[in-house]
Amino acid sequence: MSKHGELTVFWGTMFAGKSTNLITNLKEAGAGAICFKPYSDNRDEPNVIRTHDGLMYPVTRVKKASEILLHVNPGLTTVGIEEASLFYEDPTLIPTIQTLREIGVNVVVTGLDMDRHGVPFSQMPSIAAIADNCFKLRTRCSCGEFASLNYYRGDGSTFVARDDMYEPMCRTCFSKQKPSL
Ligand SMILES: [Zn+2]
Repeated sequence: MSKHGELTVFWGTMFAGKSTNLITNLKEAGAGAICFKPYSDNRDEPNVIRTHDGLMYPVTRVKKASEILLHVNPGLTTVGIEEASLFYEDPTLIPTIQTLREIGVNVVVTGLDMDRHGVPFSQMPSIAAIADNCFKLRTRCSCGEFASLNYYRGDGSTFVARDDMYEPMCRTCFSKQKPSL
């Protein structure tokens, strides 16, 4: 029986370095790595992840997480899943992650921990629970404290809000804002 892979999760607020950590892991894995993200994430360029600090990595968009399994090949060592929170309630997401791990593929997942209302984001808590390594990342609030929440400044008109519609905030500053839409 082949060695199982490991599941690593980077989750937390916006602008906390989740994608940077993902890309660093994928680049270390070399040619055996492929990265995916949900089709609903139509921000920016569809086929590239570009981080705020200038890293980039090719990405394949999939409508259902189980489509990732169609890309399994003998040389595959590592699968990245960017913005896993945006798979929402896709019932194939967690089984796909578990299948990859069981066939010896390392899986690196990023996603938001909470939505704009401070509610745990879809399947992310379950993925974090089954992870072998789990890193909660936080950026700073404009007041200097660590941010825990993402305040939404948009009008709710786009399905997936642009990054610049969010401002990471500590709980104290968040509580002073008017409620998000
Ligand atoms: Zn603050």
